[in-house]
Amino acid sequence: MFADMLRINYLVSGGLITNYRCSSRCRHCVYASSHAWPDDYMTSSAADEIFSLLKKLGCSSIHIGGGEPLLRPERIFPVLESAAGNDVDIEYIETNASWYKDESSAVNILKELRKRGAGCLLISIDPYHNEYIPFYKVKGLIKACSEVNMDVFPWLMEFWDDLDALDDRRPHSLEEYARFFGDDYLLKLPGRYGLNLRGRALRTYRPMMRMESFDSIMENPAGCSLLSGRYHFHVDLYGNYIPQSCSGLSIKLNELIHGADPNKYPVFYRLEHYGIKGLAEYAVKEYGYKPESEYAGKCDLCQDIRSWLVLELGLNLPDLQPADYYRFI
Ligand code: SF4
Repeated sequence: MFADMLRINYLVSGGLITNYRCSSRCRHCVYASSHAWPDDYMTSSAADEIFSLLKKLGCSSIHIGGGEPLLRPERIFPVLESAAGNDVDIEYIETNASWYKDESSAVNILKELRKRGAGCLLISIDPYHNEYIPFYKVKGLIKACSEVNMDVFPWLMEFWDDLDALDDRRPHSLEEYARFFGDDYLLKLPGRYGLNLRGRALRTYRPMMRMESFDSIMENPAGCSLLSGRYHFHVDLYGNYIPQSCSGLSIKLNELIHGADPNKYPVFYRLEHYGIKGLAEYAVKEYGYKPESEYAGKCDLCQDIRSWLVLELGLNLPDLQPADYYRFI
């Protein structure tokens, strides 16, 4: 039996994941989004419940992310209406601009967003997204935003000149970037982007990372403090609280605020309290997990154990949701 409940009393800043489905399958995506996910969007009633819980936790402004939230713009309108009804500010909506067709249709969609209280788009500008989305769409969307006084939060201007150096009418692979800018381009990208090396990003960069022995990783007894972080959390369309940085882990938000039972969330609990050592010992003892001799750090081991529990053992654990994260990574 565990003594401590998992509880969060206040939250400062975070985002909603209104849908995991995306037009792209970016190699840096921490949430493992892609077109393979079901076409599920956050419903109006789920949004109402989430906004009211967030307000109780002291959080009255939020951003919207995905997946690609504007994949089907009309599906996000009820979420915006719910935010307005609950007096929650929308800081910005993240978008990859893939839905841009031409200026007039984009202006129409932007006007609908503005009408519902959204005043800013965070528009992705980076080589990872450019593998799927031609740069002319990003430029066109920025111009359309200026037509309707929608603010733009360009993420990241650092990459504008890189993308602009290549033909903006078509997407470009990272390999093309490496041919154009040098072999070490891919390797330097995480530092320039400020990339969180978890989720699919970890898979992408794992072959280039320094390996560490299992025994040495197990010498680290520290709990993973980011799991109870009040900043940069997300709540997804299924009502899961997704902790800062560590995708594939979750607790139902409505349980977390009252105190979630550690027996129901044994993976999350062990990671938060005893870190990777606690999770690995649990996986070996309870499920017969057989560790490799080395991993690309503790998060690689953590991801491997969790994937194994979901994909190999077929477990449907409440703290490893949504399970599609593991399928579509
Ligand atoms: S070991 Fe797991 S829970 Fe801890 S920081 Fe890494 S991914 Fe997150």
